[in-house]
This record gives sequence, C-alpha cells and structure tokens, in this order.
Amino acid sequence: MVVPALAYHKVAEIPRGAVYRANYVTPEQFITQLRYLRLRGYEAISFHDLLAYRRGEGELPARPILITFDDGYRSILEFALPALRAHRLFATVFVVTGLLGQTNRWDADELQEPLFSVDDVRRAAADGHDVQSHTRTHRDLNYLPEPDALTELRESRLELQQIVDGPVRVVAYPWGNPAHHVCRLAGVAGYDAGVILRRRVNFDSTSAFELRRIGINYTTSVSRFAWDLTRLRWRGE
Ligand SMILES: [Zn+2]
Repeated sequence: MVVPALAYHKVAEIPRGAVYRANYVTPEQFITQLRYLRLRGYEAISFHDLLAYRRGEGELPARPILITFDDGYRSILEFALPALRAHRLFATVFVVTGLLGQTNRWDADELQEPLFSVDDVRRAAADGHDVQSHTRTHRDLNYLPEPDALTELRESRLELQQIVDGPVRVVAYPWGNPAHHVCRLAGVAGYDAGVILRRRVNFDSTSAFELRRIGINYTTSVSRFAWDLTRLRWRGE
C-alpha cells in the first residue's frame, strides 16, 4: 500500500519579517490543495489507522493520506483545521509539550507566534484531529546525550497522554532528519512510530520509525503537489 504524508507548519499569508518562509502555505494554496485531495478521492487517515493496518488489524481506504502539522501554532485553529473539517478531512498535529501556551522559542531568530495551549490541544482533539508528540522542547535530538534525548521523547509522550487522555504513539522528530540512534530511542521511549521529512511516499516496507512526509510550503505549485502524490510512488523505496 502506498501512503503519502504531507507536512505543514502554518497556513497564513507570510508576514513581513518572517525568517523561515518555507514554514508558510497561503490560505488560497491550502484550499486549492484540499480541493485537489477531495477531487481525487483521498481520505484522511490517522497514524493509528496506519499502524493497525501495518499490524494486519485494519484496512485502509483506496487512497489514504496523512495530513500533518508540526509545532502546533495556534493560528491553525483559526483557519487550517476548520478548513480541513469543511472538506471532510482531518490532521495530525505534532505539539511541543513543554512549550504549550508559549511561543516557538527554539527559533530565536524567527517571529514569535503563540503555540497551542493545553485547552487548544483538547479543542483540536474534540474537533476530530489527532494530536501527537513533537518532543518536550524541540531540541535537535541528534546532538543530545542519549539520556537527555530519551527524556525529551518519553516525558513528552507521558505529558501528552495525560492531556488527551489517550495513547500517544507517534513522534515527529524536531528538524525531521533523525540519526539512526534517535529512531531507536523513540522505540525505547514507548512510541510505535516516528515521522521524518523526506520527499518520498511510504510503502509497507518503510520503517515505522522513519515514516516519510513531503514538506509543503508556499513554493509548492498545484502541479508539483499533484506530481508528488501521483508520481512519487514510482520512485520506489
Ligand atoms: Zn518543529
């Protein structure tokens, strides 16, 4: 089964002074992409759905898609998440549990924007979206001593489970490019899967701790979006 996953950060017009412009998709682009997905018959799935399928315990729709948001910017509650629901889709939001209600302070040189609060996490979940972990403080796990990396992973999972009152099984590694030992630590920390940033789709043979997500940003044209969804599968493993 071929399962593409998309990675977004913010859906908004790019504000003056933004440093990491690739974190933005405009509202107009986003709506065009959602219409494309619906038109082509894509159905949103959760990582729980994917993991159940991989265990042989569930079926996936003919054209499954994972739609994800990193960091949990509060602004996605206003436009992106409601727009998804209006198109009968939903997202997985990866939040930084130690910074709920604060800002993206790991990007000290970037405009600071509010992140989900604890209530926002519950609100998104109640709205039909899934919320999973993006670690405790968004440090680059590749460069942390292993015990510290393990704490970042494990504490985040336990904190988030308390908040959503349900299982947290998936981590989005900060910066999306984990070293092999980090993927192993995610398993030790109790996760069943981890997601990276790589312009490839997922096959049954793709490691659960290195599930690929295609980064979408303001430079992603409609034709590029369509090409990635229809042609990347032929790029193979
Ligand atoms: Zn991030």
